[in-house]
Amino acid sequence: MRFLENLIQSISAQVLPTACIICQEFQSASICSHCLPMLYHESLLHYECCYQCGIPLQAAELHSIQCHACSTQVPAFDQTICLDRYDGLLQAALHQFKYQKRLAYAFGLSDAWNSILANDIDDQSIDYLLPVPLSQKKLLARGFNQSWEIAKRIRCGSHIQKLPSTLKRFHDIEHQAGKNFSERKHDIRQMFYVDAKDIESLKGKSVVIFDDVMTSGATLNEIARTLKIIGVVWVSNWVLLRTTKLNP
Ligand SMILES: [Zn+2]
Ligand SMILES: [Zn+2]
Repeated sequence: MRFLENLIQSISAQVLPTACIICQEFQSASICSHCLPMLYHESLLHYECCYQCGIPLQAAELHSIQCHACSTQVPAFDQTICLDRYDGLLQAALHQFKYQKRLAYAFGLSDAWNSILANDIDDQSIDYLLPVPLSQKKLLARGFNQSWEIAKRIRCGSHIQKLPSTLKRFHDIEHQAGKNFSERKHDIRQMFYVDAKDIESLKGKSVVIFDDVMTSGATLNEIARTLKIIGVVWVSNWVLLRTTKLNP
């Protein structure tokens, strides 16, 4: 199926004009030759970012590889790699994909990752890649998991096994029944679980969690906490877009 999908995509790219996901100009690539270098130069690759949570470091933090927040309250994840800032060139494309359900944008967004970041990531020690899951209800409503649609197209070492349904999420309401609004909003503890059949194979392994957007990091922290409880030894977050303020 994957082969067929790639074949159809490459034939379409040759035969049909494609709109650049950033400037909308029609040409042959999903990101045009004008926008790709612009995206590259603005990407978080060119900023000193916190090794652990991926946020650009403030001037006073530059002596360290960690931001102040991570050094005072150490997250459960070990590393975060982000392509671009949330309010940058790819935000509109992500919204088209996620909220207007324009699946073609997933190709462009994964192309952006592959063109700018994929070659620079040392993924030798990673065993598995897991997308952040949606609850079953949300998945049915949207029709797809946006993180997986991008993650399955990103380029990484062939030794990394991508597991789309290992990590699972309770539906917010069913999980948090009986709690008030404020508690529901802030309490994401125990929101995630690992499929029982995969627990043994994750023990002692290094795992990447792929997410489309990282804001406070609370969701990714809870996922990392859940994974480490079952014996995962190292967790890295790969994130398409990162908010650079803690409360956007
Ligand atoms: Zn363009
Ligand atoms: Zn940090």
